[in-house]
Amino acid sequence: MAYSYDDQNIFAKILRGEIPNNTVLETEHTLAFRDIAPKAPEHVLVIPKGAYVSFDHFCNAASDAEILDFHRTAGRICTALGVEPGEGGDGYRAITNAGENGVQEVPHFHLHILAGRPLGPMVVMR
Ligand code: 5GP
Repeated sequence: MAYSYDDQNIFAKILRGEIPNNTVLETEHTLAFRDIAPKAPEHVLVIPKGAYVSFDHFCNAASDAEILDFHRTAGRICTALGVEPGEGGDGYRAITNAGENGVQEVPHFHLHILAGRPLGPMVVMR
């Protein structure tokens, strides 16, 4: 099935420079910037520059170079925030929401990296 990408989504506009962002790190294939409505003291969004709707779309369609660059950048963000548990940091949560059940607001794949406080249970069962 073909993925349909809406190039008017807010992150596409950020990537085109039409909307400002608070960049933390930019590489050839990836942009990391602060969430406009942070849910924790540290809340960084990591996005590929390519037009991918969701995590599964990215994993299935992106090039090896894009996938490698994305993950290395996410790792560098954890390092920059000083949150790596193996390095004495207090830890973090990396989340990606997808589609309706995942309650994805912006239809451009993004990884949330949240840190700076205890983040509670992953999902509340109901
Ligand atoms: P989702 O629910 O799609 O996983 O998360 C979308 C995230 O994008 C939310 O945390 C929201 O605060 C953030 N967001 C929405 N619009 C903007 C924007 O214009 N700039 C930035 N930096 N973040 C945004």
